[in-house]
Amino acid sequence: MHYEGPIYRPPSEADSLLVQATVGCPHNKCAFCMVYKKGPPFRVRPVDEIKRDLDEARGEYGPGIRTIFFPAGNTIAMPTDDLAAICAYAHDIFPHLERVTVYGSSTYIHRKGLAGLIKLKNAGLGRIHVGLESGDDRVLQSIKKGTDSQEQIEAGLWVLKSGIELSEYIMIGIGGKERTHEHAMNTALALNVIHPHFIRLRTFLPKANTLLLHQIRKGRFQALSPHEALRETREIIRNLEINSQVASDHYTNYVDIRGRMPEDRDSMLSTIEDALQMEEEMFRPVYVGTQ
Ligand code: SF4
Repeated sequence: MHYEGPIYRPPSEADSLLVQATVGCPHNKCAFCMVYKKGPPFRVRPVDEIKRDLDEARGEYGPGIRTIFFPAGNTIAMPTDDLAAICAYAHDIFPHLERVTVYGSSTYIHRKGLAGLIKLKNAGLGRIHVGLESGDDRVLQSIKKGTDSQEQIEAGLWVLKSGIELSEYIMIGIGGKERTHEHAMNTALALNVIHPHFIRLRTFLPKANTLLLHQIRKGRFQALSPHEALRETREIIRNLEINSQVASDHYTNYVDIRGRMPEDRDSMLSTIEDALQMEEEMFRPVYVGTQ
């Protein structure tokens, strides 16, 4: 098995076989993301190489693999035929395979178009994790996401229409104090249109080698306090009008809320209200600036 550069996977892929299909991220500009800032540059691994890694895993672990995740940061950017070829091959050699998953940002999903996504679904791609981050265009622009809400909504709707499961990540606090209300409302609005299977919460935490950390230091971005982040989360949850699974499966979040909308809304809101009773000093630091 060959791995190059940082290898990230969603928490829900903790038990999956990880076979690297791409290296780095072709966008690599998001203002909060440090993962590939120091390289390696984006490239797509040759299909034959990936198949050899799949064969090696088959030899090592046997035919019983049930889930595969193909890192790295934006594997949906791979040429459609290449990605379809490795999805189909994985299903051929692992007859019990239940799910193949990749990360993909809306820009690159959108470039695939509905026809490309249907091709990938037919080849066995089962789920895409998308960093929506925000539904607010000003926030998307300021964090250099390289997309806007319209493109993100279209991309999400095409994923769902193709039959692929959709997991959308949203980032609490990414609009800072200045855009917290607009970020909350427009993110809920975008999610209400897309109606993804899963909504996963991450809370903004400034990282080394990122533009946002630089802006915080220069006083150009005001990060939310724990209570402000909780109130923003509450505003989003209150305004979701969809039947999606919500998860906050990440260490950055101040509170762990999870459940299905709308039936678990009240219990999620009550967890947030309880957390708001805690002193802010009880939560993780907003900013740990050592570099
Ligand atoms: S698209 Fe994803 S991996 Fe690439 S820079 Fe943005 S957050 Fe990082």
